[in-house]
Amino acid sequence: MSNDLFRDLSNSPVAARLGIPRVPVLRRYEPGQPLLAGPALVGAVGAGRFAKAVSALVEDAGGTVLDAPGDEKIAAVVLDATGARTITDLASVQAFLTPAVRRLAPSGRLLLLGPEPDGTDAEAAAVAQALEGLVRSAGKEVRAGATANLLVVAADAVPAAVDSSVRFFLSARSAYVDGQVVRIDVPVGPAVDPAGMDAPVDRVRPLAGRVAVVTGAARGIGAAIADTLARDGASIVAVDVPAAGEALAAVANRTGGTALQLDITADDAAARLPAYLRDRHGGVDIVVHNAGITRDKLLANMDPERWNAVLAVNLAAQLRINDALLADDRVLRGAGRIVCVSSQSGIAGNRGQTNYAASKAGVIGMVRALAPRFAERGATINAVAPGFIETEMTARMPLGTREAGRRVNSLRQGGLPVDVAETVGWLGQAETGGVNGQVVRVCGQSILGA
Ligand code: NAD
Repeated sequence: MSNDLFRDLSNSPVAARLGIPRVPVLRRYEPGQPLLAGPALVGAVGAGRFAKAVSALVEDAGGTVLDAPGDEKIAAVVLDATGARTITDLASVQAFLTPAVRRLAPSGRLLLLGPEPDGTDAEAAAVAQALEGLVRSAGKEVRAGATANLLVVAADAVPAAVDSSVRFFLSARSAYVDGQVVRIDVPVGPAVDPAGMDAPVDRVRPLAGRVAVVTGAARGIGAAIADTLARDGASIVAVDVPAAGEALAAVANRTGGTALQLDITADDAAARLPAYLRDRHGGVDIVVHNAGITRDKLLANMDPERWNAVLAVNLAAQLRINDALLADDRVLRGAGRIVCVSSQSGIAGNRGQTNYAASKAGVIGMVRALAPRFAERGATINAVAPGFIETEMTARMPLGTREAGRRVNSLRQGGLPVDVAETVGWLGQAETGGVNGQVVRVCGQSILGA
């Protein structure tokens, strides 16, 4: 039994007899699992540059590719619409998708690749944007744990640039990432192999050989990030406050990593952390700014202590550490990846959370501002914005608020800490250099702030 009692009951035979709609059990990643649980249908509209490479990726992962829907359920429908420029092309998109979505399997994937809007051609720009509306609506229509997402691909990006993102969005790792639009640029840093998608990347342990530091790693989402990055091959440096020392040591032990007791708001934290990474590990590849706190109060009753405490942990500490990473080129190694944990509250706002939402929206502003500066170093910085995630924090909410928070999304359930962690893992890969300065929500396509 999970902590989502309603979901468990909704899947019982009694609920089915009573006609209670099911809350789907999402397919989640397990090592050794095939990329897809069934065949993929791959198509292109216009001069699609990526369809062949996507088919090769699916076949390379042991999957079957269809070019037309048959009788069986389809695990993934991928449409390369990067060549779509006209209303007529858009009609072809609909003609391809309609019979395909009818056959979409439980936890199926609808993934579109679209063009970046062309500022010189109004129809082409309109069509590029139209795909967003289509995908976001399809995300609300597909059932049984299926998701719909759009990758907007820069005109000069080669197929290899989309590889890790296509793989993530097709796989069970993206179980709770739904209704998202992610832009893929020409990757920062050294060029990826333009030959295609068969670069010698360790598919089982895509983070092998990389050092990842995770703040707030003693519990909750941070602990899940440490576990997941370690499972994918990274060496973990787990950071948390001294008061969480015992739990932190447990995370470090089980991930085979090291523990660093550090309050990230301490005056010397932005000097100590990079020095530790440089001296003990020869640098760092992935920095996950996950530590965060809430001190909720209505704005009318807000006091400076609550305000300042939240801004200090959730935003100011991240800013100072990022500055230190940019200032010392002996810390962040090639293909460095910074991932900042924001929140849906920072996008939608939340009653009682002016301080928290300000800090989390601030994280998004910081990411956008720093993206070009990290790119100069061959590195990226992105944010993940979790929606309702099943943690100790959300378990303590009153039942009514908790139930409402869980259900107002396309998947009709809360996400798990591992869903945030898998998204961090994808953004942490060296191969994901084309995604920079973006915010990826892990919210099951929540209607809040959409
Ligand atoms: P949590 O409270 O369970 O864990 C946060 C961890 O950060 C704790 O181990 C804590 O000791 C550590 N931490 C706090 N202040 C610190 C400091 N000054 N220095 C070092 N470590 C510090 O929280 P969680 O639910 O796992 O959330 C993790 C992140 O995800 C936070 O940034 C949170 O804002 C964000 N988030 C959570 C949810 C959710 O539904 N739980 C939703 C959106 C965003």
